[in-house]
Amino acid sequence: MHDAATQWVVFTDLDDTLLDEQTYSWSAARSGLELLAGRSIPLVLVTSKTLAEVEPLRRDMRLDGPFIVENGAAVFVPPDSGWPEATDLPEVAGYRCRLFGRPYAEARRFMASQAARLGARGFGDMTIDEISARTALPADAAGRAAERLFTEPCAVEPDRLAELDALARRAGFRILEGGRFYHVVAAGQDKGAAVRWLIAAYQRRWPGRRIITVGVGDSPNDLDFLSVVDAPVIVRRPDGTHIRTDGLPQVLLAAGIGPAGWNLAIHRLLGDGR
Ligand SMILES: [Mg+2]
Repeated sequence: MHDAATQWVVFTDLDDTLLDEQTYSWSAARSGLELLAGRSIPLVLVTSKTLAEVEPLRRDMRLDGPFIVENGAAVFVPPDSGWPEATDLPEVAGYRCRLFGRPYAEARRFMASQAARLGARGFGDMTIDEISARTALPADAAGRAAERLFTEPCAVEPDRLAELDALARRAGFRILEGGRFYHVVAAGQDKGAAVRWLIAAYQRRWPGRRIITVGVGDSPNDLDFLSVVDAPVIVRRPDGTHIRTDGLPQVLLAAGIGPAGWNLAIHRLLGDGR
């Protein structure tokens, strides 16, 4: 299984998984990141975050490969990264982009025309100060969270949620529950579809290698991408629990919260001469 023809690829959620819930720091996972870099194992970020939020994280983590933003709305492939099929993809913000979502303006139109009647408010209705207060992000980071290309995080009263979801579905969207917000996303997008496309792209890039995939997440909206990897991992939530993983075979329940659990799982799966 660990011969030269084996190529591991690791897919990971960010919020509450690789990033600490309170501090947004990944420092507890540093040695696991170094392990992956030392073995030239690609680490693919699969996140609800925006391109503007992911770019500084990729620089800090020294990642140079593809990544998935806004809950599977798009796979971004960096230019000049040697991906044969990437030149056929449209260019967005300086990257090659495989699009699964819809343009942000369409989510905003839905918010303004329908969701607003239910009292739902999206990032586009909030000031940077309000986003900062609701997320505990500093103002500059909150500004990057507001630089949306596809999906709209929103706040809605729980008793209006079912109604909002019904309206969203009629308009070709659906409502996805995230850690702090609900997200208006295109009906056809999820993290799993984006990850499945990227696994196939890796296989085309390295036809002679056997691709083995790891996926790490913490919450129900990660289950669709964890179900398409070979080795799914769930880290503990901030309260110490694991989410239910019924129907997810051979899942590894990491023995730590967020990035600490991430680090333990990566060392267990890939460490010590494997
Ligand atoms: Mg998460």
